[in-house]
Amino acid sequence: MRKISDWGNYPVIEADVSGFDTTEQLRSKLEQPGEVIAFGNGRSYGDASLQDRMLLTRRFNKFLSFDESTGELCCQAGVLLSEILEVFMSRGWFLPVTPGTKFVTIGGAIAADIHGKNHHLNGSFGSHIRSMDIMRNDGSVIHCSPTENSEFYKITIGGMGLTGIILNATFRLKKIGSAYIREETVRAANLDEIMDSFEASDDWTYSVAWIDCLAKGDSMGRSIMMRGEHAAPGELVDPSHRKAPLALKRGGEFDVPFRFPNFALNKLTIQAFNFTYYNKCRSGTHQNLVSYNSFFYPLDAVANWNRIYGKRGFTQYQFVIPKSAGREGMRKILKRITDSGLGSFLAVLKLFGEQNSFMSFPMAGYTLALDFPISFKAMELFKELDAMVADYGGRLYLAKDSRMDAAMFERTYPNADEFRQAIAMLNEGTTKFTSLQSQRIGITS
Ligand SMILES: Cc1cc2nc3c(=O)[nH]c(=O)nc-3n(C[C@H](O)[C@H](O)[C@H](O)COP(=O)(O)OP(=O)(O)OC[C@H]3O[C@@H](n4cnc5c(N)ncnc54)[C@H](O)[C@@H]3O)c2cc1C
Repeated sequence: MRKISDWGNYPVIEADVSGFDTTEQLRSKLEQPGEVIAFGNGRSYGDASLQDRMLLTRRFNKFLSFDESTGELCCQAGVLLSEILEVFMSRGWFLPVTPGTKFVTIGGAIAADIHGKNHHLNGSFGSHIRSMDIMRNDGSVIHCSPTENSEFYKITIGGMGLTGIILNATFRLKKIGSAYIREETVRAANLDEIMDSFEASDDWTYSVAWIDCLAKGDSMGRSIMMRGEHAAPGELVDPSHRKAPLALKRGGEFDVPFRFPNFALNKLTIQAFNFTYYNKCRSGTHQNLVSYNSFFYPLDAVANWNRIYGKRGFTQYQFVIPKSAGREGMRKILKRITDSGLGSFLAVLKLFGEQNSFMSFPMAGYTLALDFPISFKAMELFKELDAMVADYGGRLYLAKDSRMDAAMFERTYPNADEFRQAIAMLNEGTTKFTSLQSQRIGITS
């Protein structure tokens, strides 16, 4: 038994944790009685990969094939996005979709159907999966794709590990000319301005904004948008970059070596923590050439930054509301959050494109994400926010959630009931794959 948690360090549980190197080893673990859940790299924030018995996938991490002419890669599900970048970036290939950290596994990326800064143009990670193999509760392996065993494919993408253990997946990497991004930063004085900027940035491949949650009144929603394109080698200015346009930039990482005491986290420390990043955007020119690491993964530069929230841990409240809910919806929710003063200094805002998948989080509309140290007051606030999000036709992201109740899930995920029935049918009366989250929100018993 070992103490374990996901990224938010809330909840922390004691679990029987083990890994596997081969499909035979995995099969023999599944033959043992009792329920299990896959644990990728624990970068979901709450309890989606937690359970009394957890199967760690990280050792199952081999590259299986790569077609240099098309960029088609097949790899085992325990491979991290960072490992793909390490091998393929220097050969001119990048991920079709990447989240705000490169330390997630392919299995975790599919199970949560993660989104990136290019969702409005390229959809979520799952929409790039050409095929995958999944080990079911009885040890059999099912091969699925949009055309083969398509129902199984459909419920596995965004299915939070409840259909089985994803073994491997095939998807296409995207050709790039350099490891640099041509970034444009746009400052917005308030929420209306930043929403105008998003709506005028449709043709940029990547866009995201950081909102200053301390700004109130007319300045509420004051923010900086970063939009970007992969830079062509000819656009690079620095001679060393021009010489090796695809070279990986290393270094610049530092670590948070221990958990901060809970009292250490107040407005000042949050402000100080975000200062470096925020300040860089303020003082920089409006157009920059930046490394892909600083554009996509600014938080990865601080290893174990989650420890800054102390032993009590934290959660991220990420919701989406449809575009049709209008600016009014976002304004009211943001005002309730900023008035509470409970959340992080910065929140991330993004405009999603259309998405019609079965269980995934994104929908055409605005998504906002910010961190909250765990406290009674925050939990009370979330109940109010949940009601507002649901009334506006929105929903919460399962990969970030540690506290939503079954009624909220049922009300906001239109296919909740069908998903529950499909999972029950797969289990044929004996639940095998279940997490603390799936039990809490009523997908599994
Ligand atoms: C700093 C930071 C930034 C982030 N930014 C974004 C973002 O921009 N966009 C976004 O979408 N997400 C984002 N996330 C969330 C993260 O991408 C997801 O939670 C992702 O699922 C984590 O993958 P993991 O490998 O760590 O999986 P875990 O967290 O261990 O597990 C997540 C889910 O995947 C399931 N799972 C894992 N492996 C398998 C497998 N082999 N077979 C079946 N099921 C499996 C688990 O059971 C669980 O339900 C961010 C997280 C962090 C910490």
